[in-house]
Amino acid sequence: MIGLRIFKEPEIIDMLKEVGIKNVFMSYHFGIQDSLNGITNEMLNKVIRDLRDKDMRVVLMTTITNQNAKVTLHICDTAYELGASGIEFNKIFIQGRAKNLTNIGLNLNDYNTFFTQLKEARDKYDINELEVRRSGTFGSDTVNTPDRFHCSAGVKKVCITPDNKVYGCTCICKPGYEVGEIIDREIYLYKDFYNERSWCLGDKMGELGIDNIQELNDPNIKRLVKTIK
Ligand code: SF4
Repeated sequence: MIGLRIFKEPEIIDMLKEVGIKNVFMSYHFGIQDSLNGITNEMLNKVIRDLRDKDMRVVLMTTITNQNAKVTLHICDTAYELGASGIEFNKIFIQGRAKNLTNIGLNLNDYNTFFTQLKEARDKYDINELEVRRSGTFGSDTVNTPDRFHCSAGVKKVCITPDNKVYGCTCICKPGYEVGEIIDREIYLYKDFYNERSWCLGDKMGELGIDNIQELNDPNIKRLVKTIK
């Protein structure tokens, strides 16, 4: 909610600069902004202008649903026109406030459209003028090759909770999904933890919403859940 905070207290920008912060990541959604955050895009546009006026780098965090996947390239164009230096796409999580939103999960056509336009955007914009990123929650690229997707959960990243439990990723950070623990300030992973890495582990384990689980009866997934427990 940094966007809302800066909108209400623009003087925060100077405080951020004073402590050496140069990049601000803020949620900016297309088509569903008011439903998710209670802050309008017009308010956020002013925040972006204020940040840019102070030479701050702005990265927009945008949620993709089946409503806006088809305008992914247009979203990138808009982000560029607004003055953002980057945009990062996340897939809709059917949880929290979004639980009130129905029928917005992605199907295969939506994935295909999203990945096609994502590549078009990356081809169109030099990374130094607009960096276009997507989170692992989308899983493997359904269109383009080579597909370099590898889930990092428990391999290159972990999530640690105050009770010294270790989880593979923030999106599977809840009791029952532990992959290790902290012992004497060192991170230990359970030896039977296994991440096949070709899926978003959080997606496959249901944290992103039951509507998003694909291939639920895949024996590999059942084995994975059993292993972690
Ligand atoms: S579970 Fe893996 S792919 Fe999914 S968000 Fe976490 S690290 Fe990324």
